[in-house]
Amino acid sequence: MNITDNGIALYYDFHIHTCLSPCGSDEMTPQMIVDCAIAKELDCIAITDHNICGNCLAAMKYAEDKDLIVLPGMELQTSEEIHVICLFPTIDNALKFESFVKSELPPIKNNIRYFGNQTCIRPDGTTYEEEQMLAISSGIPLYGLYPLVCSYGGIAIPAHIDRTSFSIGSVLGVLDKDMGFPLVEVWKDPSLAVSAGIPYIQSSDAHNIDAFFDREYHSFTAQDKSVNGIFTALKNMHA
Ligand SMILES: [Zn+2]
Ligand SMILES: [Zn+2]
Repeated sequence: MNITDNGIALYYDFHIHTCLSPCGSDEMTPQMIVDCAIAKELDCIAITDHNICGNCLAAMKYAEDKDLIVLPGMELQTSEEIHVICLFPTIDNALKFESFVKSELPPIKNNIRYFGNQTCIRPDGTTYEEEQMLAISSGIPLYGLYPLVCSYGGIAIPAHIDRTSFSIGSVLGVLDKDMGFPLVEVWKDPSLAVSAGIPYIQSSDAHNIDAFFDREYHSFTAQDKSVNGIFTALKNMHA
């Protein structure tokens, strides 16, 4: 955390998968992620599993007495197979949105042998296997998603827009302000965001610890290191 003329530079990673994502490594427990974020000297992180918020509370509780803000989040898969990071200020906001998303997922059970296990860890450390298939598109479309997530108190950020799959770039091939997103996430190449005049952030999309540490540091400027400061900064970023 560095203090600048305009506020505080916050080092962040708002796209991290836990062992609850079928593609997430078993080592990615909520507690391990918090410990690694502190070791990396980040100020704020978000837990963003596919279509679910089940491991957010364990990470938030574990970070309560630590100098790290953990936002509850989710990587939603829209009906067009586009990934969108959804971040929320509180676990209540996140879980309300999650129950809506659950109602929009096809009722198919996860095939562990094909996709991998989906381990949910409660704050007390006990675990269970999430049966709903999470690596699947919801029935929620991209258009209208930003105001929808805002109505749950959150912010929606299209994920890795420059990737060759599950992205605005790969599915639609275009990005413009009419899609309604004031902010996007870029994996490596920001040209699509730059040409659309939309500001962008960059996170690790880590599914294992090595990828989490391999990703370079990124920061943005906020008025203060708080949940409110983070959301105000994200919603008012300039290209
Ligand atoms: Zn993704
Ligand atoms: Zn992801």
